[in-house]
Amino acid sequence: MKVIFLAPPSARLFPAPEIPGLPGLSHPLGSPRGNVRPAPSAGSLTPGSPRGLTALPSVLDPGRSGRLPAPHPPPATGMSNQRKDHLGASSSEPLRVIIIGNGPSGICLSYLLSGYTPYVRPDAIHPHPLLQRKLSEAPGVSIMDQDLDYLSEGLEGRCQSPVALLFDALLRPDTDFGGSVESVLTWRHQKERAIPHLVLGRNPPGGAWHSIEGSMVTLSQGEWMGLPDLQVKDWMCKKRRGLRNSRATAGDIAHYYRDYVIRKGLSHNFVSSATVTAVEWGTPEPSSPGARDPSPLFQVSGFVTAEDQSQQSFSLRAHNVVLATGTSDSPARLGIPGEALPFVHHDLSALEAATQAGTVSPSSDPVLIIGAGLSAADAVLYARHYSVPVIHAFRRPVDDPGLVFNQLPKMLYPEYHKVHQMMREQSILSPSPYEGYRSLPEHQLLLLKEDRQAVFRDPQGLQKVFGVALVLVLIGSHPDLSFLPGAGTDLAVDPDQPLSAKRNPIEVDPFTYQTIHQEGLYAMGPLAGDNFVRFVQGGALAVASSLLRKEARKPP
Ligand SMILES: Cc1cc2nc3c(=O)[nH]c(=O)nc-3n(C[C@H](O)[C@H](O)[C@H](O)COP(=O)(O)OP(=O)(O)OC[C@H]3O[C@@H](n4cnc5c(N)ncnc54)[C@H](O)[C@@H]3O)c2cc1C
Repeated sequence: MKVIFLAPPSARLFPAPEIPGLPGLSHPLGSPRGNVRPAPSAGSLTPGSPRGLTALPSVLDPGRSGRLPAPHPPPATGMSNQRKDHLGASSSEPLRVIIIGNGPSGICLSYLLSGYTPYVRPDAIHPHPLLQRKLSEAPGVSIMDQDLDYLSEGLEGRCQSPVALLFDALLRPDTDFGGSVESVLTWRHQKERAIPHLVLGRNPPGGAWHSIEGSMVTLSQGEWMGLPDLQVKDWMCKKRRGLRNSRATAGDIAHYYRDYVIRKGLSHNFVSSATVTAVEWGTPEPSSPGARDPSPLFQVSGFVTAEDQSQQSFSLRAHNVVLATGTSDSPARLGIPGEALPFVHHDLSALEAATQAGTVSPSSDPVLIIGAGLSAADAVLYARHYSVPVIHAFRRPVDDPGLVFNQLPKMLYPEYHKVHQMMREQSILSPSPYEGYRSLPEHQLLLLKEDRQAVFRDPQGLQKVFGVALVLVLIGSHPDLSFLPGAGTDLAVDPDQPLSAKRNPIEVDPFTYQTIHQEGLYAMGPLAGDNFVRFVQGGALAVASSLLRKEARKPP
């Protein structure tokens, strides 16, 4: 087998193109990462016991604190006194609902469970004639009290979930046709409809958005990133920020979600820096005569990490648990020798840290970026902005129609098309119009060595070796449900295949988002197959509507 040693690309680079999406903005809250990276992964902890527990431990594990530990996180994310009182008062009573995950899904659900109730404005006319006719059949009845199956029937759009399409159509009636018709909904705060709940999350409210590089521009239009009754453009205007080409920065969006929780008065429901490590459930409690709620009790355990990094465990019981943990916490790995070496990372933030620390620079060895998706493209853009030399390797051919670049309109996403163009024109064999960047299409990384050598196999089966300063493996991520019995695999549509947001999500009832396999256990967001913020909100509507119905059935 032939081994070719190649010099790294020249450090002299052409100037970074002026395209949206390049870093440079300072984050309004300071760096959104670093201080908010996930605490120790739940994946390293023992998963919960198998199902079929005959009896759960008493209300709260006596060996544990019995309630969530004292507050410590920053003010916007910390647990308020009200929260502590609430938990103190109810520690012997199971909670009605625990939501695990505080991203857009968890926030939207918390909003609906806090008594914010959507009604159709009496003067509103929906541009979809069939939907308009159905809406006019029940004037004055909250959407949450209507038949979501009936209302959503016949709607079509960029998502499989009927309720997601319905809620999106009510919030953004003609957005897919380029229109800007105002939402047909009006929101009433009806405290009597509120259902007590707790939202637990590792990050501050905003979930994955606190882990995305703050200066990156959203793929979606800024308006599609908004939550009910607070338009992103209005919020931006008040913050004296602006959209870029109708898109927002990830930093602004993370800030918006945090602010949303405060503005809507939801903070007391949120506990940040809380990592759930186990969810267990047993057989339903013996029902009192006439009781019609067959839910088992869930026991939710984990720990809260304080600012000084000390951890305090908690254990709580709940009648219903909502999984809203997203899919970004467990990066996919190549599974090759050397992947655990300290210069190998699976997160774009490592590049930012290395750039700031000077570990990578215009004169260093190149950064090796593996992957042909948008995260890898973001990393290429980031590195080029700082004139750091890049080797960009991926397994597919550049013209593979499955590549995400081929699915994005050029006009809207010039920066990603620039990367795609570079991938095509700057392959290792062709002369370079892009100094400091080389692409290695159809190359397989075989091995990483301690002396920072990366060994590849090219399409002809030859081995090539490059010296690199840093490796970023950005090839996607998987949901991490290691806190569930069996890591949640038996909840998937196909329990024999790995759980995947795109290919094999958790199987839920489409109109309640309750998991098919477990009463009282719900899943929403990418876990249930809704991959965009715009559509995760339909899941929140379905869950809230289902929980309200359960509350109504509860014996007095
Ligand atoms: C780089 C990138 C760019 C994206 N761009 C867009 C875009 O332009 N438009 C768009 O609509 N969508 C985009 N998305 C997808 C978007 O992030 C998700 O659709 C959305 O955030 C899902 O919301 P969620 O609340 O369900 O989950 P998340 O936002 O992922 O939030 C879940 C939270 O739960 C926490 N969590 C997980 N496990 C536990 C546990 N055991 N204990 C406690 N907390 C836990 C996680 O740390 C996370 O903070 C992008 C995603 C990425 C990664």
